Amino acid sequence: MAKITRKPVPRKAAVPKKKAKPVAAKPKAPAKKSLKATRPWTPAEVREVFSRFRKANPEPKGELEHVNPFTLLVAVVLSAQATDAGVNKATRALFEVADTPQKMFDLGEESLREYIRTIGLYRTKAKNVIALSAKLLGEFGGQVPRTRAEIESLPGAGRKTANVVLNMAFGEHTMAVDTHVFRVGNRTGLAPGKTPLEVELGLEKLIPAEFMLHAHHWLILHGRYTCLARKPRCEVCLINDLCRWPEKTV
Ligand code: SF4
Repeated sequence: MAKITRKPVPRKAAVPKKKAKPVAAKPKAPAKKSLKATRPWTPAEVREVFSRFRKANPEPKGELEHVNPFTLLVAVVLSAQATDAGVNKATRALFEVADTPQKMFDLGEESLREYIRTIGLYRTKAKNVIALSAKLLGEFGGQVPRTRAEIESLPGAGRKTANVVLNMAFGEHTMAVDTHVFRVGNRTGLAPGKTPLEVELGLEKLIPAEFMLHAHHWLILHGRYTCLARKPRCEVCLINDLCRWPEKTV
C-alpha cells in the first residue's frame, strides 16, 4: 500500500503589528477661577454700585413698548425667547387695534397670528394671548390683576412676567431675572445662583429698598450694553473696580 504523505502547509508569514500612534496628550483647559474665593460684597459696596447706576441713568426705562398694563403684559408674554426690538416691531401695529382684553379677544387668534408671525413661537403665543384676554374678561373684570399669584395664573405668564408687570405697571419692588440680569448677578458676584430664582432672591436680599424700583432695569441695561455675554466691555464698565468676576479684563 502506497504511503500517503501530506504536503507541508506553508506557514503564513507573520504580519508585523502596526505600531500604535502615540496619542497626543490633551491640552488641559485652563482651570476656571472660582467666584467662591472672592470677597463677599459689603453693604457699602452694594450701595456704591447702585448709586453709580442711578447717577448715570436716574430714570431707566424698559425697552418693551406698551400703552397700559394690559399691553405691557402682552408684550412680556410675547418676549419669551425673542428680542424686545423684534416684539416692538410687531406690537406697534397690534396695539393700535387691540389695546384692551376685549379688543384682543374680539380680534381673535387667527388675526392675531398675522400681527405677530415675525416673533418666535407665534402660534403658541397667539393662543396664550387670546386665552389670557378671555381670563382677564371672565375673572378679573377686564383688568390686569395686581398679585403675583393671579398674574402667574394667566396663560403664558410665569414668574418673570409677573415680576415685570408688578414692577413696571404697579411700582412694586420686584426683581425680574432675564438672561442679562442672571449673567450680571453671577459675574459680578452680587447674587450668584444656578437658577433665575436663586439670583432673584439673592438680589432682593442685597439691594437696599431705595434702589429696588429701578434695580431691575439698571441690571438689564448693564447686561445688554456693557456686561455683554461674549465680550464684556470691562474697560468702560462703571463698576469695574468693584466687580468680583475673576476674568474681568481690567
Ligand atoms: S467689570 Fe466686566 S465682568 Fe464685571 S460687571 Fe463690568 S463688564 Fe461685567
